[in-house]
Amino acid sequence: MKAIDLRSDTVTLPSPAMREAMYRAELGDDVFGEDPTVNRLQEMAAERMGQEAALFVASGTMGNLVSLLTHCGRGDGAIMGDRSHTFLNEAGGSSALGGIYLLALPNQPDGTIDPASIERAIPHEDVHHPRVRLVCLENTHNYCGGVALDAQYTSSVADLAHGHGLTLHLDGARVFNAALALDVPASALAAPADSVMFCLSKGLSCPVGSLLCGSAEFIERARRMRKMVGGGMRQVGVLAAAGVVALEEMVDRQQEDHDNARLLAEGIAEIGGLSLDLDSVQTNIVFFDFASDRMTAQQFVDKLRDQGILMLALGPGRLRAVTHYGIERADIVQALQVMRQVMAG
Ligand SMILES: *Cc1c(COP(=O)(O)O)cnc(C)c1O
Repeated sequence: MKAIDLRSDTVTLPSPAMREAMYRAELGDDVFGEDPTVNRLQEMAAERMGQEAALFVASGTMGNLVSLLTHCGRGDGAIMGDRSHTFLNEAGGSSALGGIYLLALPNQPDGTIDPASIERAIPHEDVHHPRVRLVCLENTHNYCGGVALDAQYTSSVADLAHGHGLTLHLDGARVFNAALALDVPASALAAPADSVMFCLSKGLSCPVGSLLCGSAEFIERARRMRKMVGGGMRQVGVLAAAGVVALEEMVDRQQEDHDNARLLAEGIAEIGGLSLDLDSVQTNIVFFDFASDRMTAQQFVDKLRDQGILMLALGPGRLRAVTHYGIERADIVQALQVMRQVMAG
């Protein structure tokens, strides 16, 4: 029996075209800037994001870290959502390694941070106050259910930040999912920011890699930070080659993942003991709530696993399923059937 793995879009395996491209990739030493495949991917990425330049990094976490280290010095503050990946899931790297303090403001259910609360959090110039240099947004917002933040909101936060002499970083790990959901080019969501990170290794199905994009001047400084954290890699075109294929072939196919997530969400909404807000299911992520006196959410997940359906329990009574390349419509039908059986006991 094939496992239907809905734990994350990070479990995706490279497509046959990616394997082929990796095998054939033209290579050079990227620390010397001489890997043609990396250079090509970086140009493609910058263009897709509406930014001047881009830098290949080992992971999304490294991309966000390098970005924060480039925007902020020791003792500087960065504003971000209290449910953001950077605040919760990146091991506090920017504080530990960069002496950057993180100012977490409430994320609204739609993934945004209230601009008025950002405004209040920016201290005025005074010898007592820490310097706050940066605002960070996340799009799509993972823990808010994979919701998409629109271009108008992103631009308004960029204007707010710039008006106070701050910069804006976008954690766009899944920014192409947001662009698909909103039916806009990704650049409409990414260009207002001073820097944007997106992942190749999630829904775009690459084995490794993310890109940090920004102005040419910013990326030059970021290159030094990447080196500092050990992220200068050599013939890394073997990895970048998969990224080129991803940007050419894997972006638009994610609509299938969104359709499958919607099918899954609509099915879950009809199962007794499970509930969700259908409006929050906009992309490939389905968060739902579990309530039963017969078993805990973890026991439910364990029972699904016994029947080949993999999901994550993230917090008490809160479950997550993510659709991705390799998951077909028939897999969703099968997953729903097993969920119904398990809930019916
Ligand atoms: C996955 C993810 C990251 C980090 O990416 P890794 O490659 O796993 O380090 C950052 N931000 C968001 C929103 C993510 O979902």
